[in-house]
Amino acid sequence: MNNLFVYCEIEEGVVLDVSLELLTKGRSLANQLKCQLEAIVIGNELKGIEKHLIPYGVDKLHVFEGKGLYPYTSLPHTSILVNLFKEEKPQICLMGATVIGRDLGPRVSSALTSGLTADCTALEIGDHEDKKEGKTYKNLLYQIRPAFGGNIVATIVNPDHRPQMATVREGVMKKQILASNYKGEVINHDVKKYVADTDYVIEVIERHVEKAKNNLKGSPIIISGGYGVGSKDNFKLLFDLAKTLNAEVGASRAAVDAGFADHDRQIGQTGVTVRPKLYIACGISGQIQHIAGMQESSMIISINNDPEAPINTIADYVINGTVEEVIPKMIKFYKQNSK
Ligand SMILES: Cc1cc2nc3c(=O)[nH]c(=O)nc-3n(C[C@H](O)[C@H](O)[C@H](O)COP(=O)(O)OP(=O)(O)OC[C@H]3O[C@@H](n4cnc5c(N)ncnc54)[C@H](O)[C@@H]3O)c2cc1C
Repeated sequence: MNNLFVYCEIEEGVVLDVSLELLTKGRSLANQLKCQLEAIVIGNELKGIEKHLIPYGVDKLHVFEGKGLYPYTSLPHTSILVNLFKEEKPQICLMGATVIGRDLGPRVSSALTSGLTADCTALEIGDHEDKKEGKTYKNLLYQIRPAFGGNIVATIVNPDHRPQMATVREGVMKKQILASNYKGEVINHDVKKYVADTDYVIEVIERHVEKAKNNLKGSPIIISGGYGVGSKDNFKLLFDLAKTLNAEVGASRAAVDAGFADHDRQIGQTGVTVRPKLYIACGISGQIQHIAGMQESSMIISINNDPEAPINTIADYVINGTVEEVIPKMIKFYKQNSK
């Protein structure tokens, strides 16, 4: 009762990274709250799935297995969560800000009148004082995310209704196995008790999933270009450097909007969140919406012709110069020195 639940997504038998990241975060929040971490998986052919989840510190794994539960459709998954939560009364529920999470989260929170904060960039536990009511709430989930176009970072709390629900994008939290031999209980539920036959009204007959065209999330080095790169043609310089360093190319929203780079390369609040070992920001000013997607990079190099560019304040190294002059030199010297 009153535990922390994570809804885990499975795609072709593999647990999504975002779910594992949320289990890692969920474990540390559950420790703070001194409660259990529970996970939910819903799908078909889930045999052995516990091996991939329990090592993240899952105390209880709820498995719902059956035909019609994979690929995802809204109604059966919603019914499972709503009915399970009515029984289990979790205090917190986390899910990925994926296409599925964005569909499922609001349905569940609306059915339970619980409220939900989408796209959180941090989750913490803390108290909240309602000065108007003269009431103090202990150990609430702080649901932290940029608000008002990224001009403020808002901390949102949900004092009275449960569960406190939040979605988080992939890459925002770290994933870390707690112990490969962690002991967790697996509960195989009878799906019929949770899902009505009418919930299977939609049957997926054929499904086409477009694979990502780049490996931004997995690349240890990212060369990212902003509006200061100047043109699509100049972006070729970034691709040349990326080829030399075996890296991926990212972009700011201004660069994407200007047509210098494809949208799926956008990094930031409304793009991808990355945490590579090395992030080279070329002609990027460093607005908060961009920083939100790359500030966890281990090392940041900024190439900018403005020594006062805000990104320089978070960069480990700053190269003051233009992209056009600096990048060819980087390629030349890297090649020279790595012979
Ligand atoms: C709701 C919302 C969501 C947003 N989401 C995102 C997001 O996900 N990702 C994102 O990136 N932005 C996002 N933005 C936009 C963000 O606010 C900025 O407008 C954007 O990040 C600026 O991109 P930039 O740094 O490339 O361009 P600019 O701010 O124009 O900066 C260009 C930089 O290049 C430098 N420069 C110019 N010429 C050269 C040269 N030849 N060589 C080297 N340096 C040069 C300049 O000094 C400057 O620092 C969002 C905005 C809003 C309101």
